Amino acid sequence: MDRAFYTQLAIDSIAGQTIPLETVQRLLSSETEFLALLDAAFEVRKKFFGRKVHVHIINNAQNGYCPEDCHYCAQAKSSSSEIKEYPIKSDTEILAEAKQAYESGAFRYCMVFAGRGPSQKRVEHLSQLIRKIKSNYPIQVCVSAGLLDEEKAQILKVAGLDRLNHNLNTSRAHYPEICTTHTYDERLNTLQAAKKAGLEVCSGMIIGMGETSDDVLEVAYTLRKLQAPSIPVNFYIPIPGTKVKEPSPLAPEYCLRILCVFRLLNPRAEIRVAAGRELHLRDMEVMALYPANSLFLDGYLNAKGSTRLKTLQMIKDAGFTLDSEFGVDELLKNETPAPQTAVSDFSKIALKGLEELRPQLLGVAPTVKNSENNAKY
Ligand code: SF4
Repeated sequence: MDRAFYTQLAIDSIAGQTIPLETVQRLLSSETEFLALLDAAFEVRKKFFGRKVHVHIINNAQNGYCPEDCHYCAQAKSSSSEIKEYPIKSDTEILAEAKQAYESGAFRYCMVFAGRGPSQKRVEHLSQLIRKIKSNYPIQVCVSAGLLDEEKAQILKVAGLDRLNHNLNTSRAHYPEICTTHTYDERLNTLQAAKKAGLEVCSGMIIGMGETSDDVLEVAYTLRKLQAPSIPVNFYIPIPGTKVKEPSPLAPEYCLRILCVFRLLNPRAEIRVAAGRELHLRDMEVMALYPANSLFLDGYLNAKGSTRLKTLQMIKDAGFTLDSEFGVDELLKNETPAPQTAVSDFSKIALKGLEELRPQLLGVAPTVKNSENNAKY
């Protein structure tokens, strides 16, 4: 493949043309040149996002108590992972964390609630919370709360919610291998309902759960069809106790090729290099910023990730800037070196402790996983 091929790839992507399946299949394989592909994806990224990076901070607003069996999830009922379960955090705690996220330069504050889907009562509570956050801080708000219908999505939209996250996680054909308590179609329906309610949707995938590269491409095309404006690309973190039957080994270059393909097929989407970047990209982590324009600042729902300092320094060193009212230098000044938490070694996958999950409420007593102390709703 000569240079002209990659130049044309970027031009076609920017023009909104669909890159054919046979071409993207080749892009995922080593028969195409990696650096030329990365450059083509970077051209598209630059066109729509320049060198700006959206930094997200995730708030695990409730940990555990989930009746679903998503095999990748430490909070699933079927998992034996040693997480610190707690019911939904108090409003005071969630608001204080929203303030902290805003002051840390986050572009978006993502609240995640475990469970199959929110009850009417929880939707009304979430609406109040969203109103309070939006009236106090100029920050985008995203909620991940499981399956919902259009009526509930509408209530959240009216309250001021910007985005609803609901990941497809894998292809339709592979879905039964990763979850048996709900279906791929239920997930798709939730996304359609959110769109009909006028919400932006955030939906992505977890790579490395035994899927084929064609499964990966199917998800990338489906999200293109859905015109998802936000696509988190996660790389499976095998937290001990989770149930994925056949995790696939992931080479850093393959992970980066996947990010490039998601970018080329979804040129205007916010492509997020999400969970597992430290573990699977290792020394090639910074290269993800060329196709992706978004990442999580300091870890994920249950697994630890990089430190704030390290993430911000990586963004600065590679010549990218933050999409935030705070400059990266200003934020770096406030960061003190923290113990290394990056999980770049499979034998050292670490779960977040309460000090990270509930920084506003140090000393809270953890409950025992799957105990009878159920969530509030
Ligand atoms: S991903 Fe969500 S719905 Fe699935 S087990 Fe985890 S918390 Fe429950």
